[in-house]
Amino acid sequence: MTSEIYLDANATTSVLPAAAASALHAMGELFGNPSSTHYTGLRAKDMMASVRSRATRLLGAGHGQLLFVSGATEAIQTAVLSALCAVRERRQRGETTGQLLVYGATEHKAVPESLAHWNRLLGLDLELRVLPVDTQGQHDLDALRGMVGDAALVCTMAANNETGCISDLVAIEEVLCVAAVRPLWLVDCVQALGKLPLNLAATRIDYAAFSGHKLYAPKGIGLLYVQADAPFTPLMAGGGQEAGLRSGTENMAGIAALGAVLEALEDGHTFRSHGTLVRLRDELANSLRAALPGIVFNTPLAKTLPTTLNFSIPGVSSKELLDLFDAAGVRVSSGSACSAAKAAPSFVLEAMGLPAWQAASAVRMSFGPATSDELISAACARIAACGAILRASGLAQPSRQTNTEDGVVQFSDDGEYAWLLLDATSRSCIVVDPLEALEPRLVTYIDSHNLGVLAVLTTRADAEHESARSALARRLGLRLDDRAKAGDGDGWPTGCGAITLANGSVASALALGQLSLARFEHAGSKAYLLGQPIHGHMPADAVRFAFTADTAVGAAITQRDGGPVASASLLQLARVMQGATVLCRSRDGRGHLASTLQSEMVQTSNAEEEDMHLRSATLDAFLELHADALLVDVREPFELLAGPAPCKAGHEAVHVPLSRLVNQLDTWLQGTPRPLVFVCRSGNRSGKAAACMRRLGYGQAWHLAGGLALAGR
Ligand code: PLP
Repeated sequence: MTSEIYLDANATTSVLPAAAASALHAMGELFGNPSSTHYTGLRAKDMMASVRSRATRLLGAGHGQLLFVSGATEAIQTAVLSALCAVRERRQRGETTGQLLVYGATEHKAVPESLAHWNRLLGLDLELRVLPVDTQGQHDLDALRGMVGDAALVCTMAANNETGCISDLVAIEEVLCVAAVRPLWLVDCVQALGKLPLNLAATRIDYAAFSGHKLYAPKGIGLLYVQADAPFTPLMAGGGQEAGLRSGTENMAGIAALGAVLEALEDGHTFRSHGTLVRLRDELANSLRAALPGIVFNTPLAKTLPTTLNFSIPGVSSKELLDLFDAAGVRVSSGSACSAAKAAPSFVLEAMGLPAWQAASAVRMSFGPATSDELISAACARIAACGAILRASGLAQPSRQTNTEDGVVQFSDDGEYAWLLLDATSRSCIVVDPLEALEPRLVTYIDSHNLGVLAVLTTRADAEHESARSALARRLGLRLDDRAKAGDGDGWPTGCGAITLANGSVASALALGQLSLARFEHAGSKAYLLGQPIHGHMPADAVRFAFTADTAVGAAITQRDGGPVASASLLQLARVMQGATVLCRSRDGRGHLASTLQSEMVQTSNAEEEDMHLRSATLDAFLELHADALLVDVREPFELLAGPAPCKAGHEAVHVPLSRLVNQLDTWLQGTPRPLVFVCRSGNRSGKAAACMRRLGYGQAWHLAGGLALAGR
């Protein structure tokens, strides 16, 4: 496997060797319970006290309390509970309190979720109010001035985890102190620790949250700072540890490890200086600029942590960049927490008011303050290689991709699909069902493959799709054929020929190389049929693909007497195409990639997909048993260029990117059945491919669950 370059330190870091050694020492030698009064306990207690006093010194905590907690989420929880209990007590005493719980729009979810949770649980009915940020991620101080008079608690982070944007805490404090009754103030300092100077007791901060695993300590240890006069309510009651403020036997291994990290911070040998970190960050930024023309940094670097870069590349989604970097052994993350199925646009970048494409393309690169020059140099070399791959594969500009293949390309965005029908010989294409969110990707693809566009069409009747269709047509400018420009309101070009469909009707048809795309109006909706006509006829078995809106088929099938009954529109489509015609929808609420008329007519259940998962440990045995199995790598071409292909001696392997899977379906379905084993990076895309085949009635489809990542390939 390619050696790993880990650039996701804002998510978590490895544990510093000295911290791991301290943890081991605490578990082996200083294993005592710090509440015990014998020698063993006293020694453990002493270790804990010395870590606390080091933390107090380093953070400038003065007379404030520093509690050991499990992490920042617990610290935030405790702070919110304390502040809200104080509000409740004041109310009970008949005093007036602020009605607002104010939080920055880019706070980590732990903050708004805790506010909502405790507000609900305590029945306080306070109002959660978002403090907006500007396009650089800085808090809107005028808005804060407007809220502060009625605020009970204000939550602002010291530095943002996604963008690295550094908040102006001094300015925020000035606004808070002007209020007649100063609200309580919680600052999430998770990303600031070790990267920004902190002197807590010199500020008006009431609560500050820290997490060890963001700075080379293990997961499960953190700190909560509580200013000397701030109200406090324990989150955990029990044995009275931490002077009764946080019960539960302390995480001594974690505390010892945190102590080693703090010691390293204090002695100045392990962590790089601010100036060095800025130099390393600039090296990374310069290599990104050189490798990825058009790159946009999503926050001004001068107001950003020196260890974080957040950027977007026009026409390339976060997911594509993550896949590419991952294949090249560079671990980065999208600007948002993303589930396997869906890379949601970053809420942080959306809150900053950045354009939708920037939020949907964001990638975060972050390194820890103990990073070496060598790691950054190696990362720069890989970035250069990734840039070359992106350009060569036509994903990033500028490029003139020559390796263009015929067929249908699927672009997806959160369960919605756009389709590009491509003829390589004439270098022309037709776009069906474009979406606003996919526009930059479609334009980049078309530009980099140097394609002429014969038509931009939609099967959907709603205003949103029509506006996405006409916007893309405009954006394509000279690439769009004149006949399409002069076409009708649906984008259907002038001067099209006529073709007779299987039901005897005559349809307008647009030639695409050897194929024709026929417009088929049925049951009040529109579909487009792609196939190879024979002497002006398109018999049902010549139709390979039908592009249709979601409402046209599956959704309209109802069950009667236990059997599926086709909708009127499905029945009409059935008269002009064959059962094996691939249905390419504009949206599939079920998450299916594609289906066929046949598969829509049979009842499928998830049970069919249950045994399709192969663990990496059983893959070899499976392949031994099935000598004729075909390994199908569904990663995109650029990922293969970045990393080694998964080869299995003696087994045939093919590359069919998921975005082009639909072209292969009929060949597999109509050919001699053989076991297909799909593979990809994480098991997500290969799972979709195998499930798609199973639903189409192809029982011999499997995939490598957990992907190449877990198989160590
Ligand atoms: N706050 C910020 C800014 C973070 O980055 C994180 C971690 O992702 C948290 C809070 C939550 O920290 P923990 O994982 O220690 O609960």
